[in-house]
Amino acid sequence: MANSFDLTVLLRDNIRNLTPYSSARNEFKGEASVLLDANENAYGSPLDSNYNRYPDPLQQQLKVKLSGIKGVPPRNIFLGNGSDEAIDILYRAFCRPGVDNVILVPPTYGMYEVSANINDIATKKVNLTADFQLNLEGIAEAIDAHTRIIFLCSPNNPTGNSLHREDVETILANFNGLVVIDEAYINYSRQKTFIQELTEYSNLVVLQTLSKAWGLAGLRLGMAFASEEIIEIFNKIKPPYNINQATQELALKALENVDKVNGWIRETVSERDKLSAGLSALEFVLHVYPSDANFILAKTANPRPIYDYLVERSVIVRDRSKVELCEGCLRITVGTPDENKLLMDALGEFAFAR
Ligand SMILES: *Cc1c(COP(=O)(O)O)cnc(C)c1O
Repeated sequence: MANSFDLTVLLRDNIRNLTPYSSARNEFKGEASVLLDANENAYGSPLDSNYNRYPDPLQQQLKVKLSGIKGVPPRNIFLGNGSDEAIDILYRAFCRPGVDNVILVPPTYGMYEVSANINDIATKKVNLTADFQLNLEGIAEAIDAHTRIIFLCSPNNPTGNSLHREDVETILANFNGLVVIDEAYINYSRQKTFIQELTEYSNLVVLQTLSKAWGLAGLRLGMAFASEEIIEIFNKIKPPYNINQATQELALKALENVDKVNGWIRETVSERDKLSAGLSALEFVLHVYPSDANFILAKTANPRPIYDYLVERSVIVRDRSKVELCEGCLRITVGTPDENKLLMDALGEFAFAR
């Protein structure tokens, strides 16, 4: 299997032949004082802002700002209404419904499968190994002539670990389709991002988000980093104004706060490691998986009574025990020191009450 990646072969015919919607803001991009081209309300907005105007369809200012933070040119950045929009566009651009397939490596983020199902794309599943790493042989066997995308998530949700970098590179170097690496939790990881590998691998798409470390889940801003050719395809398909003006302005403002965010990341990592040690010491916790993320996967003999006990104490964790390879597991997001103490106190009382 030698990589002979060819984007034009992957692209669906209907997308290649598509004439994209051309908005007023696409056709006239300069500065002008009388804008009578987009049927907007010329009188203003009730919010005393420029919300009466359509936003920049390509979010140039925001991309320039992100470019400085991420070390990648704006032309290699796509912004979506959450990472989920980028995932959906990948299916619509490169996978023919009822014909093509993608490879998923469970247990992993649920949206890859949901989006595949919505788009009528078959999924081939190659489970992670017992230590939640890639089964390279299994993946190689699963690839067929219609396999378009392999979705990897590192650090992985819900397991928390990073995938071995050499394994990911083996796939990148040998697979003829796209390799998507979802780095939603990269800021908490000891591993470095794959963004800098974009120049090396033309089949690479890296997903990141402002929803986790940046504390902006409510804004819905996801990022895809890829070759200029791939980003152009994304831009061709996306709804013209997929990132609203308020989000563009607020994200731009938020991105001024790199130091604050880095402080939270350091604190979260330190709390995570404390929490891991605390959980390991509980006799009903069988195993605490190593985490490179802002959550911890903990295996217990019987998760339901623990979950219910915590709910009674107003502490909500995620029961992942029905997920394959995660039997008995709870997924616990790292909270503030106060929240983590409440959690550990409750778990200590649970142990005592039994
Ligand atoms: C939380 C999460 C995301 C973020 O999705 P958004 O739509 O950007 O909020 C993406 N991927 C994974 C694996 C996640 O856990």
